[in-house]
Amino acid sequence: MSSELDQRKESLIAHLKQEGYLKSPAVESAFRRIPRENFLPKELEASAYSDHPLPIGSGQTISAPHMVAIMTELLQPAKTDKVLEIGAGSGYQAAILSPLVKKIFTIEFFPELASLAKRNLSRTKITNVEVIPGDGSKGYPQKAPFDKIIVTCSIPQEIFNSLGKQLKEGGILVAPVGEAYGIQMLTTGRKTGGKLKTREYFGCVFVPLRT
Ligand code: SAH
Repeated sequence: MSSELDQRKESLIAHLKQEGYLKSPAVESAFRRIPRENFLPKELEASAYSDHPLPIGSGQTISAPHMVAIMTELLQPAKTDKVLEIGAGSGYQAAILSPLVKKIFTIEFFPELASLAKRNLSRTKITNVEVIPGDGSKGYPQKAPFDKIIVTCSIPQEIFNSLGKQLKEGGILVAPVGEAYGIQMLTTGRKTGGKLKTREYFGCVFVPLRT
């Protein structure tokens, strides 16, 4: 990596800490370790450390770094976690989680993006992420239950509730909840006594879940 990108990465990390998006040393070190430029088209590499979502093809976007930081912190990743992600996109969010958890299954609707995520993860030498091409709207019952579930496209409340069924007791679900192109709220659910205890954070804009 060029030292210029390194400097930009350090400034971005300092900004994310100052704003309170990056809270834990483990998540901070994941941001330092994973090169975001590896998850972008060549012509956008120079913008890798600006705090913006960027296009990755098929009309989809890689989330802004602050959103990745917020969602990763809300997920409270632990080394023993088996995680489900819905919406692999570029593979960057899964890559950030990779040093923080045991195993990640990430589902991607567009076959060309699933291949892109696989390529990006393999050139970053990440081996604990499995990319699954297909529709993640029903979760991934084959590998359920999960310790954590993260959704990076917006989902309606009913899907949020049904994904909760694939969580272990004590497990955490993080997702933007709302109608496609309507108001979305970043929402967490923690499974407590078999029920999902939910909490809404703030309004956000994510691409919608395809069905
Ligand atoms: N986590 C990604 C951000 C991807 S944007 C990253 O770090 O780059 C959201 C992604 O959700 C898009 O790639 C979109 O294709 C995908 N998606 C939309 N509907 C889906 C569905 N039903 N199942 C799986 N993925 C879906």
